[in-house]
Amino acid sequence: MFAALGVRTVQDLLDLFPFRIDDFSRIRKLRHLEPEEKVTVAGRVFSVAVIPSMRGRALRVGVSDGTGTCYLVWYNMTYLSKQFYRGQQIVASGKVEWRRNSWEMAHPRWEATGELSSGDLIVPIYHTTAGLSSATISRIVRQALSIYAHLIDECIPGELVRRQGLLSQRQAYVNIHCPPSAEIWEKARKTLAFREVLFLQLALLLMKRQNQEAKPTKPYSRFDLPEAFVRSLPFRLTDAQVRTIDEIRNDLASGRTMNRLLQGDVGSGKTVAAVWSLLAAVANGYQGALLVPTEVLARQHFQTVEEFTRGMARVGFLSGSQGTREKRLTLQELAGGSIDILVGTHAMLEPDVRWAKLGLVVTDEQHRFGVRQRLRLSYDSDAPHMLVMSATPIPRSLAITLFGDLDLSVIDELPQGRKPVRTRVLEEGSRHLAYERVRKELAAGRQAYVVCPLIREGKSGRRSAQEVFDELRTGYLRGFSIGLAHGDMPRDKLAETMQGFVDGKIQVLVATTVIEVGVDVKNATCMVVEGAESFGLATLHQLRGRAGRGDRQSYCFMISSREAEGESAERLKALETLHDGFSVAELDLRQRGPGQFFGLKQHGAGEINIQDLGVSEDILYAARQEAKNLVDSLEGGVQPPFELSSLLSKVNARFGNLLMHARSR
Ligand code: ADP
Ligand code: MG
Repeated sequence: MFAALGVRTVQDLLDLFPFRIDDFSRIRKLRHLEPEEKVTVAGRVFSVAVIPSMRGRALRVGVSDGTGTCYLVWYNMTYLSKQFYRGQQIVASGKVEWRRNSWEMAHPRWEATGELSSGDLIVPIYHTTAGLSSATISRIVRQALSIYAHLIDECIPGELVRRQGLLSQRQAYVNIHCPPSAEIWEKARKTLAFREVLFLQLALLLMKRQNQEAKPTKPYSRFDLPEAFVRSLPFRLTDAQVRTIDEIRNDLASGRTMNRLLQGDVGSGKTVAAVWSLLAAVANGYQGALLVPTEVLARQHFQTVEEFTRGMARVGFLSGSQGTREKRLTLQELAGGSIDILVGTHAMLEPDVRWAKLGLVVTDEQHRFGVRQRLRLSYDSDAPHMLVMSATPIPRSLAITLFGDLDLSVIDELPQGRKPVRTRVLEEGSRHLAYERVRKELAAGRQAYVVCPLIREGKSGRRSAQEVFDELRTGYLRGFSIGLAHGDMPRDKLAETMQGFVDGKIQVLVATTVIEVGVDVKNATCMVVEGAESFGLATLHQLRGRAGRGDRQSYCFMISSREAEGESAERLKALETLHDGFSVAELDLRQRGPGQFFGLKQHGAGEINIQDLGVSEDILYAARQEAKNLVDSLEGGVQPPFELSSLLSKVNARFGNLLMHARSR
């Protein structure tokens, strides 16, 4: 079960940080409640009932603590009733209101606690998996700590720990898992977040240094193929596309290795820049690679690139789900040089992939790849030009910090005639409004997406794709052809469903965020996001970009399932008026901190889920500065002091022998 969470070793276990703590040290007695107040209460369940109400069917759970009673209420989520039983000891936080002659707390955060002992008043909350509750994880982590804590050693130079006001590593690990107070928990998080960002920054800076030292590549001088490609397009490039292509051309003609990050909102036309670059490599006698995060997107890109480059280049395809024979043939042609451009997934990072003359790599949807993978590609082959593209528009200041090793191009304009996706945030009770619009669009021959936060039903009460799929088939969308797509499906089944949607045979695609990246179906004009509050604004913006890829008016409905939590609906409302990805990203950054922009792969062994550490911008900038100082102090071929070299060897271990590569060059 732990393996499902990416945990294989004791170290992995200790690195499984709680993403939140519930501070029950401030539990309010029910006798002392005040209306409209946000509080935490604890008590014993004495009744569980489902009753009709104005706002739909309501689940009412009565709780008593000996001084008074309070009802926890959920609307239209009666499936939660299975999780409560009489006599159960729970705590709940939320806003209390006086209604129907009793205290009510609508859609509270809650936890089954067992008997609370005074030592447990601060409860760490971990991400869970089937069969493994947060409480169980906590218990096992505590055991591990009691045995292994003394082995945790310091990896950050002492001077730096003092200057930044951090805890020691050992204290940080103990206090993040067993916090005696909320303040110390925050400090432990800060320490661990700082370490992660420091490692990342050191890796990026070392890579940049190494790139600067790398031998110059032969300057590209021929651009006839890419120019012919631009002439063949049925549309005129936007000014931003022209500018970006100029920047790329300058890099390629300079004789230095290109390391460029291309940011552009969904639908801004990044693929054109990618194809232009790939053809530039081909025109100069090199091979080009387009690395894509998902199978579905890879197949789609393969088709696009093939059409765009017909008669100019030979395009190959490589993915993990290919048959061995097909794959062997592709690899042969690649090594022999008869494939000019390879489009594919991670499969092209495998050691058995040999290139005749790899000159340029484009990575699409960079945020879906781990930093490690980016490092790997740039090190294993002979310094090819790199263009990484991302549709998660990151505010410029942050981009420079996160991708400090890259130059930045921005496509900040959409092709003419594109209409913003009309967006509405709806409460659960108004869901029918969304599906009425969907039915209208379908009747007019269009297609629709329905996006859900989970694959299957989880404890959290969030909506799952499977559940919504079953509901829609027999409910709102009866009679239409509906497909289900999520990451747990066999790959060929997933690809088949997606192809069915692309071909228009499937009218409605119920999916998880597997569709977040890149999928381009112009006929899809409508999207419903269920449980929208589970997503960040940047992701939601990215998602709705899937609808609205043609010139027709398109619609997106965000259904917020926790109607009681006013803030989350407020947060979402911003999307009704904001239509530019950069503004959305700025807002997201302000609301949720920079953690979600990291693009660190979340589940690789040894990679830490940095999002759970709640990295702040301050930490980011401070760690970057410290990393800079450390790297600067490395100059001159002098053996670094012991403390520093042990830090570097940790960075090395985390990011795949970066320094070894740097030395051997
Ligand atoms: P993204 O930046 O999200 O990857 P794409 O490259 O997939 O966007 O482009 C979105 C759509 O817009 C594609 O169908 C593409 O052919 C089209 N497109 C790209 N550039 C232009 C342009 N200058 N004018 C009109 N349509 C364009
Ligand atoms: Mg794209």
